[in-house]
Amino acid sequence: MAKAEFDVPELQEYVEVPELVEGTMAHLSPFVAKPDHNTALGFPGELVDDWHDKVLDKLDDLRSRYRSLQVYLDACVKCGACTDKCHYYLSTKDPKNMPVGRQDLLRKVYRRYNTFAGKYFPWLVGAKDLTRETLDEWYSYYHQCSQCRRCSVFCPYGIDTAEISMAAREILDSVGYGQKYCNEIIAKVHDKGNNLGLPGPAILDTLEGLEEDVFDETGVEVKYPLDQKGAEILLVTPSADFFAEPHVDGLIGYGKVFHEAGVSWTLSTTASEAGNFGMFIGSYENMRRVALRIRQAALELGVKRIVFGECGHAWRVAYSFLNTLAGPFDFLDPRYPVPQHICEYTYDLIQQGKLKFDKSANDDMTLTFHDSCNVARATRMGDKPGGQFEIPRAVIKAVCNNYVDMDHETIGEKTFCCGGGGGLLTDDLMEIRVKGAMPRMTALQNVIKDEGVTHMAAICAICKSQFTKVLPYYGMDMDQIVSVHQLVSNAIILTGQKTDEDETEADDEA
Ligand code: SF4
Ligand code: SF4
Repeated sequence: MAKAEFDVPELQEYVEVPELVEGTMAHLSPFVAKPDHNTALGFPGELVDDWHDKVLDKLDDLRSRYRSLQVYLDACVKCGACTDKCHYYLSTKDPKNMPVGRQDLLRKVYRRYNTFAGKYFPWLVGAKDLTRETLDEWYSYYHQCSQCRRCSVFCPYGIDTAEISMAAREILDSVGYGQKYCNEIIAKVHDKGNNLGLPGPAILDTLEGLEEDVFDETGVEVKYPLDQKGAEILLVTPSADFFAEPHVDGLIGYGKVFHEAGVSWTLSTTASEAGNFGMFIGSYENMRRVALRIRQAALELGVKRIVFGECGHAWRVAYSFLNTLAGPFDFLDPRYPVPQHICEYTYDLIQQGKLKFDKSANDDMTLTFHDSCNVARATRMGDKPGGQFEIPRAVIKAVCNNYVDMDHETIGEKTFCCGGGGGLLTDDLMEIRVKGAMPRMTALQNVIKDEGVTHMAAICAICKSQFTKVLPYYGMDMDQIVSVHQLVSNAIILTGQKTDEDETEADDEA
């Protein structure tokens, strides 16, 4: 069990709704961005002197630009349906981590300066002055929201706390009070093309290493091309796929699938990142700048299709916004969706009978699947509702003999966040990350006990990194989280692949 400097929730059979305890997480705030990181994104380097007026101006600007924000600020009737739906409230007891409590941090300022009642009778409507303490409270609690949107599923008015959280972060950035983790990463994407700041030669080196590993394992020359002009498919994948476990095993799987499909494909140095943290900070301008790299890479390489690797929020930005941010993509082959998810791609090949599998290669595991929030609640796959739930499961079941779902109240549209999404995947927020994982860990522990589950698969780079880190806090192993295309990679039989018998014969001859 990993040691923590904070209380790790003890897992029970069910997640109980806790009594409120004010201020349990008031101490936690992420590191503040350095001036260089802020200015690289077009924000003031540090908190501006006239922040009070600028905050109110920015709030007005956002309300006029995003009608949904205005509706969300006005529509809440305090019915309470969302109160026990946030993993951070369930695990911390802090009422400001209730979705409605989180929304009210911004709403009380909006009411004070923008409504008749708030201006003249603030005490009647919960309106509050904007003070420096308010700003710090926003910074703290809007960085304790993973923008997972679970609460919005249960709100009768569809109020989306994630959008309020994005607006609050956008306001904070606009006055020079940004978060180090997100802003530093976005600055790296603008500079190098990916979240990790990996230069092209390092990516090339990794890909050549993968080619050697796959050849040693299978005897088949599977290519992992970079910047190959004229390839049919551009694969845009999270940069974690280039080196981290279990992400890289997924990348190995994508390459095997493309190889077996007989299609030419390539990665790109310019667009060596599927993730788009511009969404987490609510910055349309930065989100657009990050998305335009993909258009630029697709044009330069002359590809016909764009496929996204396993990354939750990247798929949301791609599925929901890519065309608006970086379209039109009329230069791509119109017979294919723009963009397409790697699970859709693999699933289509499975449906057509074009891939062969030895499912027993995964018999050492009993799998379950974690629906990632952004995929589950903000996107689709395939051509029918619910495809985002069915297609990844269909791929897993095509390559594994042993699969069971977790409690249905914790998967699909109602899935619980991993605890590290929305720009929270940083060590300075480890306490909220570990605590917020509690509902997912509870559901996982139950299928481990009752169904003999040994591993959980996911299609999100953030979920995989988060679980690798938090599983040990709950007495589980970090390698119990796996990539879906890692399972595909284990089971796929490549044409001409060497078999165990070939290995034995080679050993005998030697
Ligand atoms: S979006 Fe998710 S993290 Fe944010 S308040 Fe709602 S349930 Fe909690
Ligand atoms: S469920 Fe919706 S309307 Fe009800 S308290 Fe929560 S945000 Fe307000």
